[in-house]
Amino acid sequence: MMRTLLSFAFALFLLGCNQAQTSGESGASADTGQGPYIGLDGRKLQPVNKSDSEWKAELTAEEFRILRKKGTERAFTGDLLNNKKGGVYTCAACGLPLFSSDTKFKSGTGWPSFYAPYRSEHVAEEKDLSYGMVRTEVLCGRCGGHLGHVFPDGPEPTGLRYCINSASLDFEDRQP
Ligand code: FE
Repeated sequence: MMRTLLSFAFALFLLGCNQAQTSGESGASADTGQGPYIGLDGRKLQPVNKSDSEWKAELTAEEFRILRKKGTERAFTGDLLNNKKGGVYTCAACGLPLFSSDTKFKSGTGWPSFYAPYRSEHVAEEKDLSYGMVRTEVLCGRCGGHLGHVFPDGPEPTGLRYCINSASLDFEDRQP
């Protein structure tokens, strides 16, 4: 009887270890759906996948046109173009930190411009051949929202110019 009880306890112990190991690994595993995204509070964020109708319910018509349908706001019309405050620019759709005010510069193009993303994992890039041009589209890494384009004519230290729609961004007035 004692032997049976001991075996049972040992089996429970093994099961417990196995579960602990599984949950310990899940944070690093790619197939759990966990993305490499860090929120402003330092917490890891999951990827966001929503349908057009879900986005339509959450975004303004202009945000939906730009973020979800790859639109572009008219030059010199965006409300963040001349924002000179220190802070963090986040995705207007999912809140992911995308750019720091430390990397914002005046490009003269009419759209907010940055020379680097907040974290490289937070933005995705895709080749864009629309309008007879070869450009590199910049998207939110977490929700896939269209942000703008990146060009190789920016200032030091990267030489890059992230040309971003104001409508794709929100601004958090806080330490970058
Ligand atoms: Fe996003």
